[in-house]
Amino acid sequence: MPTTGLVYHPDYIRHNLGQDHPEKPERISTTIEYLRRAGLLDNPEIQLFAPKPATIEDLTAVHIEDYVQEIQSLSKRGGVLTLDTPVQTETYEIARLSAGGAIQAGEIIIRGEVKNSFALVRPPGHHAGRGYGGGFCYFNNVCVMIEHLRRKFGLKRFMIIDWDVHHGNGTQDIFYGDPTVLYFSTHQMPLYPGTGYMEEIGEGEGRGFNVNLPLPAGTSGDVYDRILAEIVSPLVEEFRPEFITVSAGQDAHYADPIANLEFTSYTYANITRKLLVLTHRFCRDNLALVLEGGYNLEALPASIASIVTALADLPCLPVELKARQEVNRNQEIEERIKKLKSILKEYWNSFR
Ligand SMILES: [Zn+2]
Repeated sequence: MPTTGLVYHPDYIRHNLGQDHPEKPERISTTIEYLRRAGLLDNPEIQLFAPKPATIEDLTAVHIEDYVQEIQSLSKRGGVLTLDTPVQTETYEIARLSAGGAIQAGEIIIRGEVKNSFALVRPPGHHAGRGYGGGFCYFNNVCVMIEHLRRKFGLKRFMIIDWDVHHGNGTQDIFYGDPTVLYFSTHQMPLYPGTGYMEEIGEGEGRGFNVNLPLPAGTSGDVYDRILAEIVSPLVEEFRPEFITVSAGQDAHYADPIANLEFTSYTYANITRKLLVLTHRFCRDNLALVLEGGYNLEALPASIASIVTALADLPCLPVELKARQEVNRNQEIEERIKKLKSILKEYWNSFR
């Protein structure tokens, strides 16, 4: 059995918002070319899967019907969802194919065809809520996957780790009152979309199951070791998710043009390797990563290659070893972690 499933469809490049738009088809085409040149597509530990579009039933398990229809009809005539999120002829179909990619990344793990997976999909999803889109997102891929796994395989507890540099406001909204999905996000703040404060903890029965750790501009990737050890691991150990999915946007990379964190491709490989240990101990190895953002056409392919290499348990690629001079924001991060732990005390024994 290959270790890692790589979900990808050549049609992902058909959703094209124009050369001036950062969410370009080349994000996928340069990445698949990079993976090919690195020998990863020929490696027996990695298997390619081509997804089908998500069904209407899958989409409406997350999104309201009117909204799904709105995307469909906007696609026919062309239009704009929000200023940064135009809709063109191919959008509806390819957004469905993107959500279908996330579904497949989950299914192949549960069916035992691979141990873990990476969904190389676009358009991204984590800014899409039940009845709205924006931030280059139309359907919430990760949420569609979770609802599918819940309905089809009866899984009961999910955790989403969102390391995209932007806060996943759509994902947070969708599961805000749901105690069966634990959402954890790190993101630069202030930055689009402006949500993701620590105090946004969930509502009703879902209180305590929405966890945000905003990071100041300039934060480097080394802080993630502490975040994993002090926040993520205790949450996983206490919550015991049956499935962990990552909203894997690599736009916290230092070279990314639309944000200001200082992660490297090494950071992403490092987090992935540590999550594998954690999912092995507490979550039957069930780990699926789904691409969100990442807009530098050199940094994104290198980061994804590092992640896929880590998932497949292959030796590090040379690019992972080029660590950048870490920027020291430790004092500020330490205070934020401390504050978050004191908020979490009310809901989780691990922090008491
Ligand atoms: Zn992003």
